[in-house]
Amino acid sequence: MNKIKLYHRPQTVEEALQLLLDAEGNKAILAGGTTLIPRLDDQIEEIVDLQNAGLDKLEYAAGTMSIGAMTRLQTIVDDPRAPALLREAARREGPNTFRHAATFGGIVVNAHWESELPAALLVLQTEVHILLPPPHPLTEGDSAQTFSLSDFLTHQVKNLNNGLLACLTLQTGGQTAAARVARTPADAPIVAAVARKDEAGHIHLALSGVAKTPIPVNPDELDSLAPPADFRGSSEYRREMAKVLSARVLNELQGQERKIR
Ligand SMILES: Cc1cc2nc3c(=O)[nH]c(=O)nc-3n(C[C@H](O)[C@H](O)[C@H](O)COP(=O)(O)OP(=O)(O)OC[C@H]3O[C@@H](n4cnc5c(N)ncnc54)[C@H](O)[C@@H]3O)c2cc1C
Repeated sequence: MNKIKLYHRPQTVEEALQLLLDAEGNKAILAGGTTLIPRLDDQIEEIVDLQNAGLDKLEYAAGTMSIGAMTRLQTIVDDPRAPALLREAARREGPNTFRHAATFGGIVVNAHWESELPAALLVLQTEVHILLPPPHPLTEGDSAQTFSLSDFLTHQVKNLNNGLLACLTLQTGGQTAAARVARTPADAPIVAAVARKDEAGHIHLALSGVAKTPIPVNPDELDSLAPPADFRGSSEYRREMAKVLSARVLNELQGQERKIR
């Protein structure tokens, strides 16, 4: 039986951060609620709902874009300015109703290990911008922190540091390719590989379904992967699929045969 005593709907980010700081009981940030609500921990006493805090801004500048944490997946699916790789990965995340609720902030904080969207964000060189509650007047303290997405995913909760994820910034240029294996074409991928060749010709490769969160990988080190196993795929199967799918997306990018085996 959950114990929610207080529900807050702050009208500004500053108000949200102050509420997070002042919260006496166990608190939780509510974004789209598609993970939080079904799994609401019965210790949670205070909810800080971000839907009115002005965190849904989308900005584009030469070769980059900024996605506010409360941006719904469907907003990017419908935005012709966004990279095709990102629009397709957001579309594949779940059914239409889910896409109108789930937010980019929630997807990144939750970072489901088989989710293709965080892998797409990794190859688009995404940075995660965290806002921290105002430091105690007597202490020096940062009010903001920026992580590369791969660093942020090493430990989401610690890196959030009682703050909130405000926005993501990413690169929009370059060639991209994605491939996945799943039980059915519409099913969540068991393993997905996403690659991007940026304007400088650097190759970025990321995988989902092979570690506790989606990860950036070096194409020459796929043999060292130790994927978790589950009913959808053994560790060996997932490693083998990682190699096959990585070769497929890299070939697509480089238009040349690349023998990974
Ligand atoms: C039908 C369905 C399909 C799904 N498919 C996928 C999938 O394909 N891939 C996938 O990755 N997940 C999937 N999920 C799981 C989940 O819904 C998402 O990972 C994600 O959490 C959705 O974001 P949300 O905005 O609903 O987050 P919430 O449920 O609102 O929040 C998720 C967590 O993130 C925290 N949080 C959210 N926003 C912020 C913020 N700005 N700052 C700090 N903390 C924050 C919350 O406190 C909570 O702990 C699915 C869920 C359902 C119900």
